[in-house]
Amino acid sequence: MGASEIRELLKVIEAPGVISFAGGIPDPALFPQAAVAEAYRHVLTATGPAALQYSVSDGDPELKSWVVRHMARLGVPCEPENILITSGSQQGLEFLGRLLISPGDAALVAAPTYLGALQAFSAYEPRYDALPTAETNRTATSYGERAPAFAYVVPEFANPSGETMDAAQRRDLLALARDLGTLVIEDSPYAELRFEGEAPPALLATDIAETGHIDRSRVAYCGSFSKIFTPGLRVGWICARADLIERLVLVKQASDLNAPRINQLVILRLAETLYAEQVAKARATYRVKRDAMLAALAAHMPAGARWTRPEGGMFIWLEVDGDFDAKAMLPDAVEAGVAYVPGSAFHHDGAGRNAMRLSYSLPDPATIETGVKRLAALISENIGGGRVRA
Ligand code: PMP
Repeated sequence: MGASEIRELLKVIEAPGVISFAGGIPDPALFPQAAVAEAYRHVLTATGPAALQYSVSDGDPELKSWVVRHMARLGVPCEPENILITSGSQQGLEFLGRLLISPGDAALVAAPTYLGALQAFSAYEPRYDALPTAETNRTATSYGERAPAFAYVVPEFANPSGETMDAAQRRDLLALARDLGTLVIEDSPYAELRFEGEAPPALLATDIAETGHIDRSRVAYCGSFSKIFTPGLRVGWICARADLIERLVLVKQASDLNAPRINQLVILRLAETLYAEQVAKARATYRVKRDAMLAALAAHMPAGARWTRPEGGMFIWLEVDGDFDAKAMLPDAVEAGVAYVPGSAFHHDGAGRNAMRLSYSLPDPATIETGVKRLAALISENIGGGRVRA
């Protein structure tokens, strides 16, 4: 599924009357609009024209200090030189792809994986390879002379699967990175949106505990304020070994000089005054929606449909047994007033035909129930590949 196909898809999905589980974007009701307005006023008064000026490429020093303290809370001892402020974590992914991939290099990705990451990396022409799992356990020798450019994972409440890597998977991944001499990109924009259960340590934290210092670590952590405050200000960060950050700063300089300073300062003010409150609000909101979707799936889906049970985040991954094609069914689904993203969009090789990503982030619980009912009826009709509708 190409980018243009997805753009076309999103247009249809926005049609009136369609309940969309496709978006996967934050609930705008959670945006702290008044606080953002107050923060812009405060920043313009306190910092004046300097807030509107070009700025340093690595990021505002005070925001970097906040991120250093935040990473310490995640068990990651680091210094400002380990941080680069980016325009959203998406830019961080693109920079890492630009810096690390030479055409033909292997890039190890989960199947399914975040579509935006595939888009960020593909311009640099990697050869995608499935991240080895316990079942497909692969040794260092299979990559020949050249180590893979990196292994990319979304360890918590993954987009699109909703799944969280367990302790054994994390241990295996870090061991693989060590054996292959490759980097792990830990993309973690959803980690704060945990509804239940214990948060596992960040891969970067575990790796530092093993290697003794972040500057010896094989993990680059991509963080974001998008899912906590608003994606509209486009502020995220990379936390990694200082020599890697130094090279990434040069990429940032070449790309856009700096992330908008005023937005960095506004995010800093929000982070200093509102972070815990906003995280609690987002968790409570998405938890109710997740529960509504899980309850509706259990009540309405036919036998042969299976889905994940996320402990946080915004996504449920649904698979249907047998000869089922989620992409082929989409036009009928939109006509029936419900939309999703077909699973094949999240696979580099077109796999995932029988799967779909459902996001519960936007609709309210009652609408979620109606949408799941519509979807379940259609899946029942399409199960086994038979399109029995008149
Ligand atoms: N990584 C993942 C897994 C995402 O789902 C998203 C946004 N959907 C991003 C990165 C990018 O987020 P942002 O650039 O807004 O920080």
